[in-house]
Amino acid sequence: MPKKTPKKALITGITGQDGSYLAEWLVEQGYEVHGFVRRVAIEDPDTRMHRIRHIADRLHLHTASLGSYPSLYKTIHRIQPDECYHLAAESFVSYSFEDEFTTINTNVNGVHYMLSSVLEGAPDCRFYFAASSEIFGRVTQVPQDETTPFHPRSAYGISKSAGYEMTRNYREAYGLHASCGILYNHESPRRGMEFVTRKISSHVARIKLGQIDTLQLGNLHAHRDWGHASDYVRAMWLMLQQDTPDDYVIATGQTHTVQAFCETAFDHVGLDWREHVKIDSRFYRPAEEHVLRGDASKAKRVLGWEQRIGFDELVREMVEADLKRYSRHDVAAAV
Ligand code: GDP
Repeated sequence: MPKKTPKKALITGITGQDGSYLAEWLVEQGYEVHGFVRRVAIEDPDTRMHRIRHIADRLHLHTASLGSYPSLYKTIHRIQPDECYHLAAESFVSYSFEDEFTTINTNVNGVHYMLSSVLEGAPDCRFYFAASSEIFGRVTQVPQDETTPFHPRSAYGISKSAGYEMTRNYREAYGLHASCGILYNHESPRRGMEFVTRKISSHVARIKLGQIDTLQLGNLHAHRDWGHASDYVRAMWLMLQQDTPDDYVIATGQTHTVQAFCETAFDHVGLDWREHVKIDSRFYRPAEEHVLRGDASKAKRVLGWEQRIGFDELVREMVEADLKRYSRHDVAAAV
């Protein structure tokens, strides 16, 4: 029997948390996996490629800039992927005025160039866009689902809602098989240090190891709908396996406070969080009254998606991974 040629998938943002889990999942499913990386990642592989180092020999990496339509088009045309996952974005929700221009430019142009490159260069390719719960912003309804109106309150949220509309329009106007995942916060040991979950897990590990003594945080009462990134990348893949493209909320449906995350993390190593956590007003954010909690019923019903890793297990896995990293003093891997 002739050998079946593997399906080809292309991932932008393959060096990030979601990109690395998705790449692992697709390699396991037998895909030929391609990734776009920035030139700086190739030049500095130790810090920028640590999340995919263990599978690097099974990936096809291309240097392409999201700001350059010709480079995206040419590479996509050459690869002819069957599925394209556009995950790359400026992902930290910053509230500073100076960052707004970069976030909007990079994220909005990025998705536009990708959609157009796929349509022109590989029109049969299925397309996934990573939208975000930040598009809901100041919500009028809890929990939110696919019918909830958007009211983004950060440059990141605005860029993601523009990307969502653009993806929907390529689907409706040009017939592209394009879907959006409206993903709520998803964490893992590969989360960047700028996010509160990883900040907590890394500090808890270092406090336990006697390397530091305190953890400074902002609003302990802020809450999030936190899931595990490895569960969420499976949802992305499921969306592209459907005959009909569509948009889906992916969430756990439960929120926890920053304080609950701390308690669970410190408990896991046998310490009392109250003895180590200090409040620092520098980490407070303006305008945080909204409750982002997602209703993933549609994804469960249509895609058969389900969350496998719960909150306690997520926190424990993150703390355990950081304990291992910091006891080795493996700074590059801990970034
Ligand atoms: P995102 O804002 O949902 O993208 O995720 P983050 O992990 O950055 O923040 C989650 C929540 O934790 C927000 O409501 C923050 O106000 C709160 N938070 C409290 N202390 C901190 C801190 O020290 N760092 C960060 N990043 N967030 C904090």
